[in-house]
Amino acid sequence: MTDNCLFCRIVRREIPAKIVAETSECVAFRDVNPQAPVHVLVIPKRHVASLDSASDGDAELLGRMSLLAAQVARDENIADTGYRTVVNTNAGAGQTVFHVHAHVLGGRRMGWPPG
Ligand code: 5GP
Ligand code: ZN
Repeated sequence: MTDNCLFCRIVRREIPAKIVAETSECVAFRDVNPQAPVHVLVIPKRHVASLDSASDGDAELLGRMSLLAAQVARDENIADTGYRTVVNTNAGAGQTVFHVHAHVLGGRRMGWPPG
């Protein structure tokens, strides 16, 4: 399952990525196809396919993912103006990589509701 997972491979450094932050549990790297001036993906190092497949045992890990997203936003200087964190879940919402991740988007005005 994790052997061919794109984001597990980024964690293992088998695929290059512009890593901006790393903790013992999570990694943050720039999205290859940015949708805003700042577009960073924050992932847990341990494979969890999606929010829909997460369980009680993943609670701390998902909390760590959220806290690193907030830290990245401060480091990228988008926290004060505001930023969007997005977790697309399952195909109809646009999830294309089935290793849970938080998008951190900022540096431009965000519309609401999202598309
Ligand atoms: P999703 O559509 O699953 O919510 O988000 C997946 C994101 O991963 C997309 O925004 C896409 O641009 C990004 N992505 C896909 N492949 C790669 C890759 O190889 N490297 C990086 N850095 N981002 C990727
Ligand atoms: Zn994975």
